[in-house]
Amino acid sequence: MMRLPRFRYYAASSVREAARIKAEEGPDSAFVAGGTDLYPNMKRRQQTPPVVISLSRIRALSRRRIGSDGAALGAALSLAAIESDRRMRRAFPGLVEAVAQISTPPLRNMGTIGGNVLLDTRCNYYDQNHEWRQAIDFCMKKDGSVCWVAPGSPRCLAVQSADSVPALIALRARVRLVSAEGERQLPLEELYRNDGIHYLTKRPDELLTEVLLPSADGWRSSYRKLRRRGAFDFPVLSVGAAARLEGDSVAEVRLVLGGVASAPLRLARSEETLRGRRLDDGAIAEAAAAAAGPSRPMDNTDFSFLWRKEMTSRFVADALRALRRG
Ligand SMILES: Cc1cc2nc3c(=O)[nH]c(=O)nc-3n(C[C@H](O)[C@H](O)[C@H](O)COP(=O)(O)OP(=O)(O)OC[C@H]3O[C@@H](n4cnc5c(N)ncnc54)[C@H](O)[C@@H]3O)c2cc1C
Ligand code: SF4
Repeated sequence: MMRLPRFRYYAASSVREAARIKAEEGPDSAFVAGGTDLYPNMKRRQQTPPVVISLSRIRALSRRRIGSDGAALGAALSLAAIESDRRMRRAFPGLVEAVAQISTPPLRNMGTIGGNVLLDTRCNYYDQNHEWRQAIDFCMKKDGSVCWVAPGSPRCLAVQSADSVPALIALRARVRLVSAEGERQLPLEELYRNDGIHYLTKRPDELLTEVLLPSADGWRSSYRKLRRRGAFDFPVLSVGAAARLEGDSVAEVRLVLGGVASAPLRLARSEETLRGRRLDDGAIAEAAAAAAGPSRPMDNTDFSFLWRKEMTSRFVADALRALRRG
């Protein structure tokens, strides 16, 4: 049986208190929301924070506001609450499709949108128990010095694997970050860095308090996910798509890949191909073909990386056809 290491536990009752404790305890302490990622990681000794600050008693973080001007989702709102919200399904179907495919129903009751947005990057050589990793002398992401995926690589290539992220970026999400020093907002896509270890631009002392979505008026959205088991599995390729049509033509479109790099990847060329055009089979085929180039998965998740690259165009085409159907 894998046991948790020893740690000190605080249950903060307000955002201000959580930010204060974090500032006092320093960068090695960790926030925890649902704990469905942090606690298994601690059992495997991938993360060993001496202090854990729980957010689950902070009521303000579980609130949601959904209206014609968009949505504000508290970071500790459960995935199940988003999945079962009809207003969310109507306005942001791509996000709800993504959330409904995260892990399993019991884990979606515990897991939160904030924890998903901040999910650790994944790799076959890292998501193993301590003894397994010790047997290969660990790796650069934790306790070692070499990357077993690309031994010459100066950086870790662990993979962005959170389902909600490509869907949220396609929907133009922003995030609110709060620390003892103040607060700031930034577009969600600016929260990520293409580095498997330092994959967030967020400072360790910053608490994610809200995910903000602008009005979905006139927008359509979809999500597609490649995984081995339909019941539950992390994505090894995912596509978040959103578009606003004027008449028959695409006025705005955003396409985002997940599971192929350490950060989510905007498909700028595919988007460019579609602007001003009807979403017909020809335009979809061109945009899908343009997606294959930037998709460069590494050999560190399930399935062959060459096959995942090949599947990119098909998944992008499928996500675009879903947008066409509305
Ligand atoms: C068997 C299994 C299958 C899974 N399958 C999937 C899957 O298919 N797709 C997927 O995307 N995920 C999957 N997950 C991962 C996880 O369940 C989800 O990503 C979930 O949304 C994480 O949310 P949480 O609240 O439990 O995060 P936590 O474990 O509480 O936190 C995750 C990380 O975010 C930090 N954190 C959390 N909230 C905040 C905040 N508000 N501010 C600052 N830092 C914060 C924590 O310190 C930690 O580093 C799976 C997990 C398991 C165990
Ligand atoms: S990509 Fe390399 S350094 Fe990163 S977790 Fe995998 S083996 Fe370790």
